[in-house]
Amino acid sequence: MITRRAHARRTGASRRLPSNCPSCGWQADSAEDKKLLQDELLTEWWALGQVEPATMTTEQKYCGQCRPSTVYLVACGICRDGPLLAGELAAVAIASEPDLPVVVAEALTDRGWRQLADVRGKGPGWVCCR
Ligand SMILES: [Zn+2]
Ligand SMILES: [Zn+2]
Repeated sequence: MITRRAHARRTGASRRLPSNCPSCGWQADSAEDKKLLQDELLTEWWALGQVEPATMTTEQKYCGQCRPSTVYLVACGICRDGPLLAGELAAVAIASEPDLPVVVAEALTDRGWRQLADVRGKGPGWVCCR
């Protein structure tokens, strides 16, 4: 898990391309790989922190090498944007469909997402935009 301090230090650093995955340590050697890794690290992943009581980390990073096999996309009903749930959290989300796990719903609400009874005639869903 990435601590807040480590995160602040990284965002305060220069903007050169990353060469290592912070999660698995995979090393990008070529400029192409570095560009690819940068894109992968921009993806917003949410993962289960602690199981009981459930906590969640929203700063998890993965590269193409260590990306979890179970993934669940939380998509806004309008713009289709949204975080990816990783591993165990994705499995919980799949099991609790059509509802989202409480920790996820709370984090979405904190970020200004709204749960609507009907999104553009397609039934209930979450939206991040108006
Ligand atoms: Zn990795
Ligand atoms: Zn949206």
